[in-house]
Formats: sequence, structure tokens, C-alpha cells
Amino acid sequence: MAECEVLSSCVFFNDKMEKMPATAEGFKRQYCRGDNSKCARYMVLKALGRPKVPIDLFPNQEDRAREIMTG
Ligand code: SF4
Repeated sequence: MAECEVLSSCVFFNDKMEKMPATAEGFKRQYCRGDNSKCARYMVLKALGRPKVPIDLFPNQEDRAREIMTG
């Protein structure tokens, strides 16, 4: 699968993960260069638009993404 189209501007990697490079790489492999449809950030972005994606939402927080999307 192609790289997630928002990777270069994803707040998560350009801000949150600089102190956890190994963890960041794992997320990138799994979601950003793997299946971004499973990424919690991507789900909220697609459903509600980028401004609604919390800065600290982790890609693996699918449950939290659902809560945000269902209000
Ligand atoms: S964290 Fe999610 S939204 Fe951000 S680049 Fe990776 S797959 Fe895309």
C-alpha cells in the first residue's frame, strides 16, 4: 500500500514522537506505510476533518477515535 497522503504533514510525527523514535517507526510501518485505514488519526481526519483530530491521538487509539466520531 502507498504511504499515507498526510504523512509529511501529520502533526503526530512532526511534533509528538520526537522523543520516541523507535515507537514512531513502529507506528509508521504499521499505519503510515501500511494500512492507514486502521489509523485512529486517519479515521477522525476522514470523518470529521483535520481540525478535529486531537494532537495527542495515537494511531492505535481506535476506541478513542470512535468516541470522537460518535460525539
Ligand atoms: S499517523 Fe495516521 S494520519 Fe498520520 S500519517 Fe500515519 S497513517 Fe496517516
